[in-house]
Amino acid sequence: MLTFSAGPSKVYDSMPQYLQDAYEAGILSANHRSAAFMNLYREVHQLFCEKLHMPEEYSLLFTSSATENWEIITQSIVESASYHIYSGSFGKKWINFAQHINPETEGLKIEADQAIDVANLNIAEKFDLIAITQNETSNATQVPMEVLEEIQDKYPEKLIAVDTTSSMGGIALNFNLGDIWYASVQKCFGMPAGLGVLILSPRAVEQTERKGEKGRYNSLNFMLENARSFQTHYTPNVLGIYLLKRVLQDIPEIQHISSRLNDRMHQLEQCIIQTSSLRLLVSNSETRSKTVLGVTGTESLISEVKKAAEEAGMQLGSGYGPLKPTSFRIANFPAITDEEMDKLMSFLKNY
Ligand SMILES: *Cc1c(COP(=O)(O)O)cnc(C)c1O
Repeated sequence: MLTFSAGPSKVYDSMPQYLQDAYEAGILSANHRSAAFMNLYREVHQLFCEKLHMPEEYSLLFTSSATENWEIITQSIVESASYHIYSGSFGKKWINFAQHINPETEGLKIEADQAIDVANLNIAEKFDLIAITQNETSNATQVPMEVLEEIQDKYPEKLIAVDTTSSMGGIALNFNLGDIWYASVQKCFGMPAGLGVLILSPRAVEQTERKGEKGRYNSLNFMLENARSFQTHYTPNVLGIYLLKRVLQDIPEIQHISSRLNDRMHQLEQCIIQTSSLRLLVSNSETRSKTVLGVTGTESLISEVKKAAEEAGMQLGSGYGPLKPTSFRIANFPAITDEEMDKLMSFLKNY
């Protein structure tokens, strides 16, 4: 079954080969204090710079998931409180985790079709970090890089944390526009779940050190201390890190992936617009995601399309939360080939 689910999503077709190679190379039993592991970590850092254009001076850390990063950010980086701007379920979960740790956390909920009105934002002095879900997988929306730039220009003294769980590895991110970037590998990296990445600017590292939070298993200072020598503070998902290296080695530079996904998203949108009964979930093209397309229709139609797709060997992603009965989602992730997307479009165009 070919899956178009937005996570866990289709893995790269080369995954079985990488797994076999990992076994043969002894990666499955590699010690995380060994030179082999330290080299692996260093190579992945280098590949993030080469392929995804992460600035050299940014730190790359391995965590277990995006969800863990929500806690780490409030626990170890936020000094006074964070301010969250969000429209969907993942952004809401993030603010809820943050509020649980720090009741001073506040936020602004916007609609899926609503662009962030930066000129009229009014974020109080006491908030030292702005939290943005760049690609909101649940309602298939995005915050474009230009909007992040406006936010940074308006609030240069605040840190900006960006959830790119379902866009990193798929679209070109300008890491200079934020201080904290994170993702999980089971989305645009086309890998099995079980590994998160957390990327920090020097300014975010400085603030973490100043805060000096310590003592928990995922206290960021503890993680950073180990990362300085390309080690981790506990036995990490070495296989996941190895697979990430192989994926990064084999993909083209991000601007090429990004333009391929943009073209493909455009075709997919046109396909839905031309159907007689399906509609785009997000009508504002500015806030519509480039990596996840939401499609809406009547409840009976949506269940009919999903069922017929399965019979044709394709699994569509369900709508998320309240949108479940009246929508489905299509992952436009890089591991899905153009032929596979063509097959889906020829199926969908009949509705
Ligand atoms: C999937 C997702 C998460 C959660 O990722 P986990 O790996 O399950 O922790 C968080 N934010 C966004 C935007 C996501 O798409």
